[in-house]
Amino acid sequence: MATELFHSSVVELSDKLAKKEVSAVELAQMYLDRIDANKDLNAFLDVRPEVTLAQARAADEKIAVGQAGRLTGVPIAHKDIFVTKQWASTAASKMLEGYMSPFDATVVKNLDNAGMVCLGKLNCDEFAMGGSNENSAYGRVLNPWDKNSVPGGSSGGSAAAVAASLAPIATGTDTGGSIRQPAAFTGITGLKPTYGRPSRWGMIAFASSLDTAGLMARSAEDCAFVFNDMIEFDPKDSTCVNLPKEDFTRHLNAGVKGKKIGVPRAWFAEGLDSELAASIDEVIKTYERMGAQIVDIELPTVKMGVPVYYVVACAEASSNLSRFDGVRYGHRAAKYTDIQDMMRKSRSEGFGPEPQRRIMIGTYVLSHGYYDAYYIQAQRVRRLIANEFNSVFQDVDAIISPVATGTAYNFGEKSDPVSAYLSDLYTVPVSLAGLPGMGLPCGIHSNGRPMGFQLICPSFHEADLLGMAHAYQLETDWHKKVPMGY
Ligand code: GLN
Repeated sequence: MATELFHSSVVELSDKLAKKEVSAVELAQMYLDRIDANKDLNAFLDVRPEVTLAQARAADEKIAVGQAGRLTGVPIAHKDIFVTKQWASTAASKMLEGYMSPFDATVVKNLDNAGMVCLGKLNCDEFAMGGSNENSAYGRVLNPWDKNSVPGGSSGGSAAAVAASLAPIATGTDTGGSIRQPAAFTGITGLKPTYGRPSRWGMIAFASSLDTAGLMARSAEDCAFVFNDMIEFDPKDSTCVNLPKEDFTRHLNAGVKGKKIGVPRAWFAEGLDSELAASIDEVIKTYERMGAQIVDIELPTVKMGVPVYYVVACAEASSNLSRFDGVRYGHRAAKYTDIQDMMRKSRSEGFGPEPQRRIMIGTYVLSHGYYDAYYIQAQRVRRLIANEFNSVFQDVDAIISPVATGTAYNFGEKSDPVSAYLSDLYTVPVSLAGLPGMGLPCGIHSNGRPMGFQLICPSFHEADLLGMAHAYQLETDWHKKVPMGY
């Protein structure tokens, strides 16, 4: 159970800073020391204590003169998909090794403006492609619950850092599950917002119609507080929706009485681990006890999610990654004969196997003669999936489902792409429909690894989603469990 200062939630740290029980510099130093002592997890790719401590000193000055906001001095770490001026931005790829961005991503800038202190950049799958963090060009991240198992991905560094209390909260990105699944694999809480709510400006692009910035923390409450300052309409991202400012904490204490929660039983595929299935049944019972009404729903088209996702995501990736040609962006080969050879060598050296595979798939599905059969067809089915969710949401306020078929798996267990891709069955349909979803802890498996469930809401209903998640966390204490030794 969480008991030490470094186990504190964002809300607790914010209170302690306001009461001057601890300074921002002390907090930053404490986490920097923990990051240093737990380097074996390989969660961080770039740590610059002098930059972090300078931010912390500035936060302390604001606190001293009474100019602090709620988050001033609270530490955070950023997934290395967000570009940052003061830390290298690599997307965990050799292609961008040592790259220093001339600007900060909007999400980073917003949290910086709120006074949060950045602890460094977090490891992830290369260009956020993967679900195990085994695809990072800088080595895999270990799951602090069991170092033989993956932390999930692609935001595996974010997940491991929060689970091991190397940071109280971290940013992540979710294109097809990369926040929800690593949260479930490490017993923490992950929020994937509605597509179009957070700004994508300064997020290194994987699949632009799916990429969504979000948060990974101990609790839904912490996600809500930080989300408030992460979100602001950004004219620099043409898909960012201009909505009135809202307080995402406003439904935290609303409870779930009278809420209708849909359970798509048929989607709980045969491959679902039986202990995980039982723990999700417990979640459903808990919501029922709290006053929610549980209704059976059907989502027959979601089973098309995985093939549709891998056509659309790879198509967009092949286009997005074309900018890394050794001229406009990225690594350039040392020796070459002509420009063709230079680009071929630069891209072969810079990209790891997974981005290369996806560029090939994407180029294929977009090529003349296959475009209609694959890409256009996938877009059609994507629309059907979105319509299906939208029609179910006429009747229910939220949907409960698994996040993955089991707990974190062992390194190497899903090294063939097909089994890796198939394991995304519960997360990618939600992404294709652009919906907000969370991964939330709901138990510890007999194998010692955390179990999680997914809560999904209609588009732009994050405040409701966070409220329903918080209601569960008031009833249970799975989110308070920490891995032994951390
Ligand atoms: N596992 C999925 C993939 O490999 C999701 C990745 C993500 O959300 N960034 O594409």
